[in-house]
This record gives sequence, C-alpha cells and structure tokens, in this order.
Amino acid sequence: MSIIFIFVDGVGLGERNEKNPFFTTATPFFSSLLGGNKMTVEAAGKDYKEASLLALDARLALDGLPQSATGQTALFTGFNAAKLLGCHLNGFPNRALRGVLADHGIFLQLRRNSLQGTFANAYRPDFFDELKGGLKGYYSCSTLITYYGGLTFRSLDDLRRGEAVYMDITNVVLRRLGFDLPRITPQEAGERLVKIAGRFHLTLFEHFLTDIAGHNRDSSFAAETVTTLDAFLEAVVRDLPAGDLLLLTSDHGNLEDLTTKGHTANPVPALVVGKGRDRLVELLDKQGSITAVTPALLKQLTVDS
Ligand SMILES: [Zn+2]
Repeated sequence: MSIIFIFVDGVGLGERNEKNPFFTTATPFFSSLLGGNKMTVEAAGKDYKEASLLALDARLALDGLPQSATGQTALFTGFNAAKLLGCHLNGFPNRALRGVLADHGIFLQLRRNSLQGTFANAYRPDFFDELKGGLKGYYSCSTLITYYGGLTFRSLDDLRRGEAVYMDITNVVLRRLGFDLPRITPQEAGERLVKIAGRFHLTLFEHFLTDIAGHNRDSSFAAETVTTLDAFLEAVVRDLPAGDLLLLTSDHGNLEDLTTKGHTANPVPALVVGKGRDRLVELLDKQGSITAVTPALLKQLTVDS
C-alpha cells in the first residue's frame, strides 16, 4: 500500500463563522467528502462514507500559541518538540530540533523499516547551490527530514517533466519569481502527486500558502487558497488507487480564523481518505495529538507492507 501525506501549514479547524475561509468559501469537494459539511470543527470527530475527519491537538501540552518549528518537528518525528525545548519555536528548527529531525525524521524511520519515502516538492536551483556548502539554518523541517532520510530533492527539471509539484500547487509563485514554467491547474497537480506516489510507500507534499494567507488576513487570497486546495484534493482522491490512503493534516491553526494574524490554538484537521483507513484513524484518534501522526503512519505501513 501507499500513503499520500499532504501537510498544509497553518490550517486549524475553526467555527462556522464569516471569519473562517473554510466556511465562507465554496468547497464542493470538502463538502462532498464531509456529508455536505464544510471543514470546520463541527464536522470533526466523525466518519463519513469516503473519509474520516479528526481534530488533533496541536498545542503540544504547553501554554502559548503553537508554532511552526516545534509543530512540524512533532508532526514529522512523533516527538513532542515543544516539551523538549520548554517552549513553542517559530520559524526554522534550532540545533536541538535539528538533532531530533536527524535521528527520528519520518523518512529515516521508513528507511530503517526498508520502506521508500519521497518528498514530492520541487526546489529551485539556488537551493541546490547552497546545499553544496552544507545545511543552512533556514531550512524547513521537511527539507531536513528529506536530507537526513538520504532522499533525493526534486528540482525544477523534475517539475517541468511532471515529476514534482511546487509548494504553491499551480506554479503561480514560481512564475511570479520569474521562472519560466507553465501554470498548471490544481487538478493537474493532484494527478501528478498520485502518479509520483505510485512508486513509493509514503509521499509527502507540503503546501504553505495556507499559513501565509492566514498571516496576511487577506480574505480574497484566503478564499483563493482554499479553492485551490479543494480542487487539488479532489484530483488526488479521484485518482487514489483502491487500497491507498490520503492523510491531510497541519502543524497549527491560522487560516481558519482571519480575526487574528497570528496562529491559533485550535485543533488541526486530520482528514483521512481511503477504504482501509480504519486503523490509521484509530491510531490517530487514540492519541489525539499531532505527535501521533508519524508513529501512526509508520505502524500502518509496516503492518501492511
Ligand atoms: Zn505561521
């Protein structure tokens, strides 16, 4: 079996109100998966025909608002990174978190179990140039787990060949930066992701415009981001082979509440799609925190492979 893990940065489960773009934007696909509901906290904790939606606690048992470096380390390793530091850490992982990512990153853990993982995101040429000079302090958790897992980074050449997806899904940001790549539809990006995933046990894709849109508090940018995500997911689920699973989750809330430009303490969604999802759902639900994600994915894959 194969699992597609879509990490959306800064997406919590908010309420059904006019400040939640997941409620105010038309999301035909989320709604069709969730029995006519939008992806809000009221829709969580339930099994639907094709999907289950859980609410995972992202607060890591510490006061203060959850942040990216600690949240993503927790998500990609299973370790409570905030407890380790004694605080939530924003931005990029520090030395202590890099140590956790180096020893316990999900790709390395897959490798130890003779399973193949891949990071589907494409990197720009400057990244490859910089990497020759060693790891940088501004590398994200996903970059670090890919590196420490000994995996190959996908490039813009891979993207051109349809063998990668850019973090913005459609190449819109890349084009704005001046790169000569065609804009693709969210549907096409979703189809690509499934095609890539067919050759691996676990395929990670990271989308972080969601967090940027939340920080910007720009309702039209927020709506556009949610619309793109909805269409992208639709294509992924439509092409998902029988027996495979999709998990969408996040590191902390943000976009679901445009009343604040910071993160939120809201639970994050764990949306699980696929016929054989019961055990993965149970494993995630039992612990109910973002630290459950990596152990649950590994358990699902090691038992099934
Ligand atoms: Zn953020």
